[in-house]
Amino acid sequence: MTGPADGGRSESGAPLLEARDLTVHHGQLRALDAISLRVFPGEVYAIIGANGAGKSTLLRTIAGLHHPSTGSVWFDGTDVTRLRPERRAGQGIVMVPEGRRLFESLSVEENLQVGAAYARQGPWTIERVYETFGWLRERRKQLAAQLSGGEQQTVALGRALVANPRVLLLDELSLGLAPVVVQRIYGMLPEILATGLTVLLVEQDVSQALRVASHIHCLLEGQTTLEGRPAEVTADQVEAAYFGLAGAAPAGPPGREGEP
Ligand code: ATP
Repeated sequence: MTGPADGGRSESGAPLLEARDLTVHHGQLRALDAISLRVFPGEVYAIIGANGAGKSTLLRTIAGLHHPSTGSVWFDGTDVTRLRPERRAGQGIVMVPEGRRLFESLSVEENLQVGAAYARQGPWTIERVYETFGWLRERRKQLAAQLSGGEQQTVALGRALVANPRVLLLDELSLGLAPVVVQRIYGMLPEILATGLTVLLVEQDVSQALRVASHIHCLLEGQTTLEGRPAEVTADQVEAAYFGLAGAAPAGPPGREGEP
């Protein structure tokens, strides 16, 4: 697959999604420490980092599932920090959660109907999902529990798409899946982006993230250790930032260079 990527980050306009100085605690633990990011329309923004780095916490905070101690989340120029998750979904912030979280006793089609229940207007319908992921149509009566991990992940993706997100939050799509399946699912990204979506994803598989992203943001123990376009960071910098080795490049600003 060719990277969507480098052409994808158009920084001339306003960011679609922005986190400003987000600090999030789980009890006494500071899971995120003043994290800022800006996601521009049409890009694939990847958050990478090791286990426990805070990636899921960041995504879930943006979706409204965790409350920040300080900081704010902005969507399309509006502060959504206090909005409940379903209100954010209604505005177009839709997440594919880690571990898929399908309704296992429901069929493929019923799972898609759940996603479509409060959908925004937009290009994605259940029919369109069947057109995009052809094999799903044949399995539409099958229970989600009977599907393989990769098939379940595709249903989870379809369920999010039929809600017609403006920004799609993908939490560890590759978790527990064979590399070939991961490639196939990520291979669908260009088609999804072509419908006007923006993607913010969390990925532990760094090479996968580097392949698909227009911008990467590495977290380590709740702090930003590296940021930039994949083409602008070296493998050594990424490794150092990921593992916390000396020599990681300092984190850049949350967005564009040369801006006040
Ligand atoms: P992983 O890839 O393992 O999911 P991650 O980078 O997504 O890691 P988080 O899941 O955000 O990291 O976790 C960040 C830290 O917060 C970890 O130390 C984790 O144990 C802790 N944590 C996450 N969720 C909770 C929770 N609900 N309650 C308490 N601690 C939590």
